[in-house]
Amino acid sequence: MMRGGDVLNVTALTKRYDAKTVVESVNFTLSKMRCTALLGPNGAGKTTTIQMLAGLLRPSSGQIRLLGDASDSDPRRSIGYLPQHPAFYAWMSGREYMIYAGRLCGLTRKAASGAAEELLARVGLADAARERIGGYSGGMKQRLGIAQALIHRPKLLILDEPMSALDPIGRREVMALLRDIKRETTVLYSTHVLHDAEALCDDILILRQGELVESGPLSEVRDRNRQPVIVVETENDEASRGWMERWLQGTKADVLNADRVERGMRLVVRDLEAAREALLLDIARAGVRITRLDIGQMSLEDIFMKAVAE
Ligand code: ADP
Repeated sequence: MMRGGDVLNVTALTKRYDAKTVVESVNFTLSKMRCTALLGPNGAGKTTTIQMLAGLLRPSSGQIRLLGDASDSDPRRSIGYLPQHPAFYAWMSGREYMIYAGRLCGLTRKAASGAAEELLARVGLADAARERIGGYSGGMKQRLGIAQALIHRPKLLILDEPMSALDPIGRREVMALLRDIKRETTVLYSTHVLHDAEALCDDILILRQGELVESGPLSEVRDRNRQPVIVVETENDEASRGWMERWLQGTKADVLNADRVERGMRLVVRDLEAAREALLLDIARAGVRITRLDIGQMSLEDIFMKAVAE
């Protein structure tokens, strides 16, 4: 169902190459004025999904609906798109490039020139507007790419890994710019770095091998996955190892998930009090020499790791 505040709705979106399904029956909705991060490890299907949304790749099946418009009008009119590796003409100035991009979108020379001026100022390139792009830093090029994607005032801005090729300074520049843009334009960007998602987005989508494994507002996804975690480390003696093995294999004390970590184990538990009591009793009974006991909460990092794990 499309709601009034929705910008784009994707239903059962699928892309196959021969026998290989790289995006499988993905459903999501992008809402007005929200910033969404499309997360997933390399190969998860982020670029493929984005290229289908941008109208550059034909879905094998499924539907992409823009602003409640099911007709086949060109989605590129309402979408601004920045590819993962944008190509610039090094000999052009930033301003010339913007006007060129505007003309390609069908703007008159005057309109393109006006929009170029305004957007270059917006992305902090007013002073460099007449310099050759060849002399721009990575962050400047990426900001120019974002300005270019906005030249026709799209309702939705889609960026493929906008931060990944940048050094820390460029990263900070692009983050600040996106933080500003998302106040008035709906934004979708892909990243394989969770930190980049957390810093900017309202909603997240996590892809794993072409399937959407988590989606929703960041805070809700966090709450939904919030579980107490206990990390236990022990001396490396035989009794301790055997004891730990029993915890790793068994279904003791409401343990939802048990993983081996470097010098011990990590337990995700349902009820912290019950689990802690059972664990301490068992440690005492078995005479295990523990070196560390940590209580914490599962983080979005854990959820991401879980989502991308085999
Ligand atoms: P991501 O952007 O998350 O790194 P991609 O969308 O680029 O992932 O790729 C998803 C999967 O689709 C990968 O396994 C990739 O090898 C495969 N793939 C992408 N393009 C093609 C293609 N043209 N032919 C066959 N397989 C492809």
